Amino acid sequence: MEKDFSPSMADFLHLRGNGLAKGDPLALPLVQSSMYHLPGFAETFPFYGRVSNPTWEALETSLSHLEGTPCLAFPSGMAAITAALFATLKAGNRLLIPSDGYYVTRLLSSNFLANLAIEVEERATSAFLDGGFEGFDVVLVESPSNPGLDAVDLRQVASQVKACGGISLCDNTTLTPLGQRPLDLGIDLVVSSDTKSMGGHCDLLMGHVASRRTDLMEPIKSWRTISGSIPGPHEAWLLHRGLETLEVRYERMCSSALIIAQRLADHKAVQAIRFPGLPTDPSYCVATTQQRRYGFLISLTLESEDKAEDFITHCPLLRPATSFGGLHSSAERRARWGDAVDPAFVRLSVGCEPVEELWDALCHSLDQL
Ligand SMILES: *Cc1c(COP(=O)(O)O)cnc(C)c1O
Repeated sequence: MEKDFSPSMADFLHLRGNGLAKGDPLALPLVQSSMYHLPGFAETFPFYGRVSNPTWEALETSLSHLEGTPCLAFPSGMAAITAALFATLKAGNRLLIPSDGYYVTRLLSSNFLANLAIEVEERATSAFLDGGFEGFDVVLVESPSNPGLDAVDLRQVASQVKACGGISLCDNTTLTPLGQRPLDLGIDLVVSSDTKSMGGHCDLLMGHVASRRTDLMEPIKSWRTISGSIPGPHEAWLLHRGLETLEVRYERMCSSALIIAQRLADHKAVQAIRFPGLPTDPSYCVATTQQRRYGFLISLTLESEDKAEDFITHCPLLRPATSFGGLHSSAERRARWGDAVDPAFVRLSVGCEPVEELWDALCHSLDQL
């Protein structure tokens, strides 16, 4: 697996503390204000809540430590993706997106970008490198894809898009910067929904954009200020707090997922399973080369839609819910949202429960089907 730069998670926990003056609060203050006391000339002081806020700025410092580069916070993952696309695309441009990635990115492209004279093409993640990237101005990739968990070689995508003069974006939501570092693989921009495991407690929506290219970050920041797509200070504060336990949660979730995937693969009720950490999985080789962790999402197909529903609804340690990445394990049938998957296909998000208790509950529910 990739083992270049890793953010120090010990330094991360002391990031704020080491910058404090005597008497400052250890915990991050929540600054809930649209106006600032500003007599005379404004100089470089914060002047208005749509432009800056000390709580987001502290959050962005935390995110930047994790990504190893400047970050911009947004009020949701879709807000981050929208900002990155609107700030990089122009009328007449061509955009490539995955046909099997997060479906709202496809809606944004077909319902809005296509009306602004942007030509949108979709391609399956498993065949993403086929056909090359000639003529594409912006290429958005998601690896592993959500929910199918197909992986694509991000180094190849980045270098080929660059050779064609395009900009590459990677939606890194499913893995977080602890599980995969697309910028280190040459990708220009990372977008992430921090609503999922970054926040981790199912109590907020947030997102961020990260890039080492100031020529891309400047227009994205300007988009945020002008469009007003800004995070609320309270959500920023909650995410800042959630990130402090990210490493512990993520470690538990990924280690448990590996153990559970191996056992699910051998369970008679499971007809098919996708988990990039299983040596038999089509994503295994690429994931092993470019990821640091295999993640906490497992896709499984049971015998029928009814059995899948029974499994999800009756397991006491599974929350039947859309979205993923919370402390509590959760699951849902993705076909109910129109994803092109089998009606008995279940996306399982492994949470922070002790693994043997979780396995006992999952196994018991599968045994009952
Ligand atoms: C959830 C998700 C998004 C959208 O994030 P929101 O915070 O819901 O706006 C984007 N990409 C992926 C891969 C996601 O899972």
